[in-house]
Amino acid sequence: MSQTKIVATVGPACNTHEHLTNLVKAGVNVFRLNFSHGTHESHLSVIELIRQINRELDTHVAILGDLQGPKLRVGEIEGGAIELQPNDTITFTHIPKLGTREELYVSYHNLHADVEVGQTILVDDGKIELRVIAIDHENERVTLLAPYGGRISSKKGINLPNTKISLPCLTEKDLKDLDFIIEHHLDWVALSFVRKPSDIIELKNIIEKQNSFIKVIAKIEKPEALEYLREIILEADGVMVARGDLGVELPVEKIPLIQRTIIKKCIHRAKPVIMATQMMESMMENTKPSRADITDVSNAVWEGADAVMLSGETANGKHPVLVVETMKKIIDEVEKEEGVYNRNLIPQKHSPTFLSDALCYNAAKIADDVEANAIIAHTRSGYTGFMISSFRPHCPIYLFTDRPSFVNQSSLCWGVQQSYYFPNLNAIDDMIAYSIEILKNNKKIKEGDTVVNTGAMPTHAQGPTNMLKISTVK
Ligand code: PEP
Repeated sequence: MSQTKIVATVGPACNTHEHLTNLVKAGVNVFRLNFSHGTHESHLSVIELIRQINRELDTHVAILGDLQGPKLRVGEIEGGAIELQPNDTITFTHIPKLGTREELYVSYHNLHADVEVGQTILVDDGKIELRVIAIDHENERVTLLAPYGGRISSKKGINLPNTKISLPCLTEKDLKDLDFIIEHHLDWVALSFVRKPSDIIELKNIIEKQNSFIKVIAKIEKPEALEYLREIILEADGVMVARGDLGVELPVEKIPLIQRTIIKKCIHRAKPVIMATQMMESMMENTKPSRADITDVSNAVWEGADAVMLSGETANGKHPVLVVETMKKIIDEVEKEEGVYNRNLIPQKHSPTFLSDALCYNAAKIADDVEANAIIAHTRSGYTGFMISSFRPHCPIYLFTDRPSFVNQSSLCWGVQQSYYFPNLNAIDDMIAYSIEILKNNKKIKEGDTVVNTGAMPTHAQGPTNMLKISTVK
């Protein structure tokens, strides 16, 4: 298995048992269900298929539910679309109506209150640029100029890069989708258009109230999120660099350096980070990727992303399995390079988890020094797993946890080859012996191999990781 993981979005091109099985065999570690599309019924049938495939192949492919968030859209348009000529004007209203050449409905109640004259509104992933020229507060309408014209069709998304949007991060639809996601025990949930750390806290409070262990991914796609990047990373369990909307909200030329910064900060905080959108776009149609796509995936792996994500390529593209196989080949090629490993991070002295972080750091370092064949970590919440993974050791990481939900969740983490559910035993020696036995039986390690174990003792205290052992497999 590669160290860098692959997230694949499920859609009409791959939502059958046969396709999903082939995608897992090709190297998918996490399936993403995009709640901007589909119904609960269609998502449920995919969830059941993935779980069936996990049982059949003895895999732990995780399921990530991606909430739509406050995505703004124009409404239905008479005839499906309107054509704007350069310097035409048009009005936006939040009063529901069929759109015409003069006036379009937008799904944003406070548009007139939040925008200012001179601000930009982008339509259809930034393809059409509109400028606010007048605001009618009484009738709650906004008039816009289209300097370059363009075609706007029904339901296209809109972005307001310079406006502080007053919508909540979790919409009514998101709350319903979240209930479904929790009820069906998905492994990860992604929150779109995160603006501030409190967005993540709000979501986590709901999850906690429902006694769920689902982990939260913050999608970074708004300029405001960059202002609070450090705090958002600290609150979330993982991060997605959602380059689609990010590239609309910010000048696109800023994306490469922003993605690098986000990856670095996430590795630093031991939070899994997914690089998303247009990674293998050329393979939507073609059987071979463009040179630019190959370089993009290589760069993300080189920079240290935990996972690279496919969106339309697997959901709607012509070659879902081939695109995963090709992506895996690119990953494996880059992972031959030494620079991918051991990123010279050191544990943070001011961190409240400094002692166990230092132990994880040294476990990864010793494993490299003695050219160990495996790191075997016992972890409860998953924290030790994330931490060891963040030090990017050369050898595979195997996790043993007494929390069933973490088994699949860890499939997203760089370098974690497999996790096992493992009820807590009374003595650490027994836990070590038992985990080595399981890995031997599963042919992950063999007699004579060197392994590094970490755990917490005494086991009944269920405290943080505080023990490190090197042994030779008997
Ligand atoms: C993105 O904008 O890059 C993204 C991943 O989000 P979505 O696919 O939900 O638009």
